[in-house]
Amino acid sequence: MKNFTHFRTCNLCEAMCGLEIKVEDGIVTKIEGDKNDPFSRGHICPKAVALKDIYEDPNRLKFPVKRTENGWQQITWEDAFVEVVGKIKDIQAKNGNNAVAIYQGNPSIHNLGTTMNSPLFAKSLRTKNMFSATSADQLPHHFAAWQMFGHPMLMPIPDIDFTDFMLIIGGNPIASNGSIMSVPDVANRLKAIQKRGGKVVVIDPRLTETAAKADQHFFIRPGTDAFLLLAIIQTLFAENLVNLGRLSDFTDGIDLLKEISTEFTPEIVEKQIGISAENIRQLTHEFVQAKSAVCYGRVGVSVQTFGSIAQWLINAINVLTGNLDHTGGAMFTAPAVDFLARAKTDNRFNRWQSRVRGLPEFLGELPVATLAEEILTEGENQIKCLITSCGNPILSTPNGGQLDKAFESLEYMVAIDIYINESTLHADIILPPATGLEVPHYDMTFHVLAVRNTAKFSEALFTKADGAKYDWEIYQELAYRMAHLTSSNEGFVSESPEVKLDLGLQFGPYGLSLQKLKENPHGIDLGALKSCLPNRLFTPEKRINIAPEILVKDIDRLRKSLNDSGLSNGFEYLLIGRRHLRDNNSWMHNSERLVKGRNRCTLMMHSEDAKNLNLELNSLVKVTSRVGCVELPIEITDHMMRGVVSMPHGYGHARKGVKLDVATQHAGVSINDLTDELVLDELTGNAAFNNVAVKVEKV
Ligand code: SF4
Repeated sequence: MKNFTHFRTCNLCEAMCGLEIKVEDGIVTKIEGDKNDPFSRGHICPKAVALKDIYEDPNRLKFPVKRTENGWQQITWEDAFVEVVGKIKDIQAKNGNNAVAIYQGNPSIHNLGTTMNSPLFAKSLRTKNMFSATSADQLPHHFAAWQMFGHPMLMPIPDIDFTDFMLIIGGNPIASNGSIMSVPDVANRLKAIQKRGGKVVVIDPRLTETAAKADQHFFIRPGTDAFLLLAIIQTLFAENLVNLGRLSDFTDGIDLLKEISTEFTPEIVEKQIGISAENIRQLTHEFVQAKSAVCYGRVGVSVQTFGSIAQWLINAINVLTGNLDHTGGAMFTAPAVDFLARAKTDNRFNRWQSRVRGLPEFLGELPVATLAEEILTEGENQIKCLITSCGNPILSTPNGGQLDKAFESLEYMVAIDIYINESTLHADIILPPATGLEVPHYDMTFHVLAVRNTAKFSEALFTKADGAKYDWEIYQELAYRMAHLTSSNEGFVSESPEVKLDLGLQFGPYGLSLQKLKENPHGIDLGALKSCLPNRLFTPEKRINIAPEILVKDIDRLRKSLNDSGLSNGFEYLLIGRRHLRDNNSWMHNSERLVKGRNRCTLMMHSEDAKNLNLELNSLVKVTSRVGCVELPIEITDHMMRGVVSMPHGYGHARKGVKLDVATQHAGVSINDLTDELVLDELTGNAAFNNVAVKVEKV
């Protein structure tokens, strides 16, 4: 095989970096940033090399395996499909359709074939028990966008390249490379704000990597962001600083929002949140005085008991200051494939509830925090069979220990996954798709969430192994057979994702085509984000609702928590998660290059708190919550707020049966053996990882 250079988009995180990959004699010899990629401009992070590691990983499955008394045995695709579909149909015939559930993990959305074809299969199950990582992450963003702008995917994106003031709450883009804000090279983009005389302010219970580079950082007590946001809004109204500009022509609910905010003065909330009234006012003044400003809140704001209120209020601040749909503010994208254009505007919330706890459905899914009890609690519609797709919920959803037991009790489980990990080890059959460098790629979702409009298609670099299947082939095959056909050859024409992508591009706002993208392997720049309201709104009258009734009602619940510390019975610390540049949730720990070096799975704690507990550097501590306990080394740092401790997520690989040779050598412990499935944003059921109280003791 001759030597050549391949250009593609990295699909490992949301940043969509362009890669330049050198191949010699069929081996990847170098992965660098593609300087000609108009979006990422040559930037990559250390994770990019993991694409080679995953491709070459001896632990990666390429063909179906079945769990037997003698261990995992490879079987044919035909045998696997016959058994899986037979079992699903059998269980549904005996127990009803809802006895089968599906969980889709975060990587689903990073793969073109899965994004386009997994819904076909999920629909074929005709079950109300659908779950995904969304309800352990960004669901409040979707909920607020749907309530205010009429579409759950119409989420405002910080116009980082043009803003003069960026307020980041509960986000650490320098570690994550942006989320609900696809932004490669974010460190330089933040630096550019400062260079042009602007300011970056970070609010977080930890002095994160992003906070360290910001102009100002404030610690905030976990779970109290909604109070801060209301105090900012109160200040805006009280000091006549509200100025919607052109948004006032199509925004409803201003008076109601003013009325709600009145009682939440900076003095009322300062003790609860840990930021002084003076600083809240200073922040508000700087925000309105900036030529352009944007308030951006991410995972730390979402995964808390008032996550939906907080995401709503963040949008509201951008509206009240005239910064929504304004250059340098919070803008909307115009993606080359505009799947929002085919939006349904009917009700998408609480059309059914979970069987055991009555938690609400949103966008066809139930909150994942209820999955374990739906499996473990006997009765009609109990889940007996689970299909996981690219997910590891035992490590990534609340109370993983309980879920572990639940998975053990399933009658049947299927995993569509490339690894035998902490969750898939419970499966009866694993169906592994071709992945990474073996598949063509177009980022269907993250172009919708990007800080600039671009489009790029990547060809597959390597052909998949002989006899292996693409993800879309697996989903289509399962869906067809669920439709009582014996295979996809019977009555259906199998369509690759490229066919649908080509159509999406041709009908999109730029009239592109797959051929055009293939002719431009570095990607096509479609320009900066542009003002598009009110036309882009999906609300019936094309108006912004700044005070949606359902969120306004939830303020009562917030009010009651004003003096609640969330601590009790010796549980004196609040636990928060953290992300590292070389991590991506639970699925990047089998690359030696990414996990080597200092142990990252530590409990960060403030030095004064550590002194009070007689803890020294690297002491082993036992951390206990209502649902479980773990032991790990302590890392003493004044980068933590007093009373708050932090653990990374995605670790805990020491479980028996895991077949990840590298990850098990760097096993760590799982934060989700501590997080609590009963602690939720009660409005939507989103997991509230940041409101978990723990006890810390020296071992
Ligand atoms: S920032 Fe994300 S997209 Fe860019 S190279 Fe790293 S993992 Fe890949």
